[in-house]
Amino acid sequence: MKLTKFWQRIGRNKKNKGNADTPGVDSSPTVIDRSDHALSRKDMSEHALKVLYRLKKARYEGYLVGGGVRDLLLGMHPKDFDVATNATPEEVRKLFGNCRLIGRRFRLAHVHFGRNIIEVATFRASHDQQGGEGVTKDGMIVRDNVYGTLEDDAWRRDFTVNALYYNIYDFSIIDYTGGLKDIENKTIRMIGDADERLQEDPVRMLRAVRFAAKLNFKIEDSLSESIKKNIHLLDGVPTARLFEEVLKLFLHGHALASYELLKEFDLLKHLFSQTAENLDDAGDRFITQALINTDARIKQGKPIAPAFLYAALLWPAVRAEMIGLKYDDLSLLQSYQVAGQNVLENQLNQILIPKRFGIPMREIWTMQARLAVRKGKRPLKLLSVPRFRAAYDFLLLREQSGETQLKELGEWWTQIQQVSDDEKLVMCKKLSSLERTKGRKKGKGKKQVKKNIVKENE
Ligand code: ATP
Ligand code: MG
Repeated sequence: MKLTKFWQRIGRNKKNKGNADTPGVDSSPTVIDRSDHALSRKDMSEHALKVLYRLKKARYEGYLVGGGVRDLLLGMHPKDFDVATNATPEEVRKLFGNCRLIGRRFRLAHVHFGRNIIEVATFRASHDQQGGEGVTKDGMIVRDNVYGTLEDDAWRRDFTVNALYYNIYDFSIIDYTGGLKDIENKTIRMIGDADERLQEDPVRMLRAVRFAAKLNFKIEDSLSESIKKNIHLLDGVPTARLFEEVLKLFLHGHALASYELLKEFDLLKHLFSQTAENLDDAGDRFITQALINTDARIKQGKPIAPAFLYAALLWPAVRAEMIGLKYDDLSLLQSYQVAGQNVLENQLNQILIPKRFGIPMREIWTMQARLAVRKGKRPLKLLSVPRFRAAYDFLLLREQSGETQLKELGEWWTQIQQVSDDEKLVMCKKLSSLERTKGRKKGKGKKQVKKNIVKENE
């Protein structure tokens, strides 16, 4: 780690003014001079720097803050660079032609550079400073647009490691909340009273897990206790917001660590209750394997389809639902269809999965039936179906995680993709005659064959 013990140097900006919220706690910031820290502008986004320089030129304050500073201090590549300023969103818009104002809950300026966006946030103050407006009776923040000073802004951020500011005027780092120490100690610590801060915004529970997983940090004890105590509040979070948060937990290269922590804190139940209720060893192995593969793909720069991720996270629920259905009346395909539909419908009460992901997710499940029932020349058609690749990967995953009774199914599909068209036909014919012999030997009819296939997939 590049970090030295530079935070011990008390900065020149020392104000020695007590913190109004916590009497007796000194809120003077620690300021680390540019010569005493390892943050370098060459590691920062040129677009973020452009925004900062323009703010400075117009005589506004300008700081890099959040993940950008935190990750660079840890020698990691930040996912994005956030800017904080004393300019209001409207003032920011006047400075940049390529700027749009977004958000109701948080009003933010987005400065566009082609496909790149730099998020510029005006310093915000805490809600105590506006007489409770914008807060529900349970203490949940619904609007957060009270502007404040840099110091106010620092204290209303979530975790100490996220409240470090890089000053564009003199390239120093400013730390009001003890974030540098927590980076050194690898700790996720809530700023202020953890219960209150989780009541204001329960999503902070998931953010704590996300940063602990991403940075391999420990969640500080009182925060950990507070998560356990307030866990039920997650059920009141808008389901669309949870969809976004879940993607952030799983699509940034630390999916497995996130999953382990969600289980440890019993948070899985509040995101995927059907999965949590039906999570046996096989299901757990399946999800673990899916997330190992997800992390590996991200590391290689390969894309991950949210539909595939959600299909995997809900697979234990689909399997349980299938077992609960009456096979006698339904074909394998129909059982998958009904089970998939039921699981998705229930899941929407917790997380709003948009249709554009929900539809392909269900296709991945129903394709499992199509991959199993390989009648006549149907496999040849399946090979060219758009969702084939995802469904095939899903099948391999099921095999990899040791799902019983699949045996040679994945291998058969691997083989048929590799051989010539003529050989593909031979493979299909061979399979059909094998099925016929099996059926005759057992002296059973068509329906029984179907039932056996269903059983194979239980
Ligand atoms: P990353 O971008 O790597 O996921 P980040 O720390 O930059 O991590 P963002 O979601 O981009 O996280 O948010 C930027 C900053 O805004 C955070 O570092 C934090 O200071 C503040 N922030 C974001 N969400 C919240 C929240 N729910 N409550 C309080 N502060 C928040
Ligand atoms: Mg960020």
